[in-house]
Amino acid sequence: MTASATQQYARLNLLPRRPAPGFDAEGWRLLFASGVFTSALQSQTAIRTAAMHLREMGAGGADRGLLFAAGAHYFGCLIPLVRHGSTEQIDFFLPSMRMGDMIGCLAITEAEGGASQAGVRTRVTTGAEGFRLTGTKLFVTNALQAGVALVLASEFPQRGSLGLSALLVPLSSPGISVLPLENHGLAGAPGGILQFDDVQLSPNCRLGNPGSGLAVMLSALQAERTAILAGFIGAAEFDLSRCFHHLKSRFAAVRDSSGEIPQVLRHRLAEIRCSLAAADAVLERGLTATETSDDSLMWPAIVKKCISETVVSVADRIHGIYAGNGWLNRNESASAVLDTRAVLAASGTSEVMLNMVWSQLSRTLVPIEHTCP
Ligand SMILES: Cc1cc2nc3c(=O)[nH]c(=O)nc-3n(C[C@H](O)[C@H](O)[C@H](O)COP(=O)(O)OP(=O)(O)OC[C@H]3O[C@@H](n4cnc5c(N)ncnc54)[C@H](O)[C@@H]3O)c2cc1C
Repeated sequence: MTASATQQYARLNLLPRRPAPGFDAEGWRLLFASGVFTSALQSQTAIRTAAMHLREMGAGGADRGLLFAAGAHYFGCLIPLVRHGSTEQIDFFLPSMRMGDMIGCLAITEAEGGASQAGVRTRVTTGAEGFRLTGTKLFVTNALQAGVALVLASEFPQRGSLGLSALLVPLSSPGISVLPLENHGLAGAPGGILQFDDVQLSPNCRLGNPGSGLAVMLSALQAERTAILAGFIGAAEFDLSRCFHHLKSRFAAVRDSSGEIPQVLRHRLAEIRCSLAAADAVLERGLTATETSDDSLMWPAIVKKCISETVVSVADRIHGIYAGNGWLNRNESASAVLDTRAVLAASGTSEVMLNMVWSQLSRTLVPIEHTCP
């Protein structure tokens, strides 16, 4: 599909439904019927193709919650499956997941915080018949709808973060409880709690090697942090366009004036254009990094921080421009504020992204002799 055909498809099928149904099963079906992820997975540029598709869906007005839920499925679960899965695992999960019939989720965060892998208390042990899993994961996007979770668990606790393993856990397994969370914002991407109570798992449920959970998680987060918010840049473009047309008709109606948008507001819209253009450029740079390097730390963190902060700021500024109409949620401008704020924490906060960037900083500096004044 061309960019404009994708936007048109979204405009016809994927606008937010009101009242918000929570997870939008019909929107999900229509999103996958567009072939968004099937074609993406066939290409060498699996992350870029999907990100650009989501961006155009957003620009067509698709619901941010739906785009976020789809991104959590694709970048957080499907991409790691394709990158790290055995032939048997890929043959089993891929056909239904690529069509969206089986939904995936990524379960990392625990009560001790999502920021640190040192906080992983979920424990997996090996036995004669396979694995046993015990622990609790919080804030898991898609948990309520998912058929499978990619779970980060501690297999060799004495090795710390190098003793983590990644597991593909069918959520119909006995011993698993799924509890809803009441989220405020991103209604279309409900979160949940996954509780594992001595869950028996088959011997071939480990994704990657024993103790390679950190690498699998970083590869999932590389894709997720780089690309999951592409749809939000598109959605901000849609909001900017609606705001512009709102102001055009608002001031055209004012008698005894030129009928033009006042200069101060023109500049505010132009500032938003600059912010979105910069976010687009950073997205592009991050996508290139996923294709040309194995950097799973710096560029994903820069992209996540930049885009999440930009879409929050743009939503806030547009809401302010609407003034009283913003309070009335004109053109979903108040919903956009809540929806975008949610993604400041998703996939890690800006502080944690800055820790990632700092960890790579010395490696990225231009070389200067340290005797240089
Ligand atoms: C919409 C949404 C969707 C989500 N989806 C998922 C999902 O699908 N799967 C999943 O596993 N998790 C998910 N999460 C959880 C998300 O990854 C965590 O919220 C995030 O990593 C932050 O963890 P926390 O909320 O536990 O905050 P904490 O780790 O408790 O942090 C609290 C505060 O301390 C700061 N902080 C913590 N550690 C440091 C540090 N080392 N340096 C500097 N500052 C620090 C943080 O920036 C924050 O301000 C989701 C969250 C949201 C909001």
